[in-house]
Amino acid sequence: MPEQRTIYFDHAATTALDPRVLDAMIPYFTSEYGNASSIYTLGRHAMQAIDGAREQVAEILGCRPTEVTFNGCGSESDNLAIKGLAFASQKKGNHLITSSIEHHAVLHTCQYLERFGFKTTYLAVDGYGCVDPDEVGRALTGQTVLVSVMFANNEVGTIEPVAEIGRICRARKVPFHIDAVQAGGALPIDVAALNADLLSLSAHKFYGPKGVGILYNRQGVRLLPQLQGGSQERGKRAGTENVAGIVGAATALRLAYDELPQVTPRIQKLRDRLIENVLTIPGSHLTGHPIERLPNNASFAFEGVEGESILLNLDLLGFAASTGSACTSGSVDPSHVLLAMQVPIELAHGSLRLTLGKDNTGADVDALLKVLPGIIEKLRTLR
Ligand SMILES: *Cc1c(COP(=O)(O)O)cnc(C)c1O
Repeated sequence: MPEQRTIYFDHAATTALDPRVLDAMIPYFTSEYGNASSIYTLGRHAMQAIDGAREQVAEILGCRPTEVTFNGCGSESDNLAIKGLAFASQKKGNHLITSSIEHHAVLHTCQYLERFGFKTTYLAVDGYGCVDPDEVGRALTGQTVLVSVMFANNEVGTIEPVAEIGRICRARKVPFHIDAVQAGGALPIDVAALNADLLSLSAHKFYGPKGVGILYNRQGVRLLPQLQGGSQERGKRAGTENVAGIVGAATALRLAYDELPQVTPRIQKLRDRLIENVLTIPGSHLTGHPIERLPNNASFAFEGVEGESILLNLDLLGFAASTGSACTSGSVDPSHVLLAMQVPIELAHGSLRLTLGKDNTGADVDALLKVLPGIIEKLRTLR
């Protein structure tokens, strides 16, 4: 039996590489294999490719090329921003502020720093998963060295008031990091308008290659490198550069923003159709903000079902989706994001995240809507 095509509704987890991005990358795997640190022609070609990629990224983010650091993934960008800044600021203070709905790349990094004497305030959110900027202002102390709040949440899609939070931080002269990994390629990013000092991106979330992170680091905001070795990336990140990956990341970012005006309205329309129809299923709830949410995110919680069971049933029918609850060693942990939003634990167990991408069609949405109500109903009668 031929393998059925996967209908992919998990673009928040990762995206397929755009074929045009692959084309741009291929020469750097084959003929242009030089090490960018080598001074002969082949090495210079690699360095020129990295410089060109850095300029492209800087132009899109509205910053200087010297403020762009390439690294190994979105998680590394978050680690470099938070640990790099915290360890460089130990003489100034030991207090960090973040939100309770961040990605683990931020939350676990803050927890790690607590072993070194740092203290973290984890800000509460409202029922939509929004951080209140006034809460950030109230949490700031003379010891605060960094505030880190995500641009958009990866589970429920809620867009945070980061520009306003950045304004408050700037007025108090406290550096502000934005985990923009989920917003990258989906929402316009202007680091000046956002009042960002540090901002993380990851190429595989916008049709670029896996294993390439981008960190914007505003000039004058000092970081301690978290990888020691050579002086690549202006001494901020040792290691021979992933030239093909860097070229791919920049190409993907440029394509995403060039095509944003065409792609966003189409995806948003599909998403709205998805939300409207899924909510006709009895005992279903939309999670996250109804309006201030990523254009591709439709996330739900269903009464009386396990998210994992929904996923397995969808998988059997060829659909890829996601749930916030992660099954670790037999017991299911509900999402920390939903719990922070005060979603009752029973309901949090029944979460389903559908994230659309530029290749999804109306037929994909119709196919899902045809099977989902039956799956939910069947699972409820089995309980
Ligand atoms: C995916 C994601 C990350 C981690 O990025 P990787 O490149 O997978 O390490 C961090 N933060 C958010 C919000 C994400 O969605």
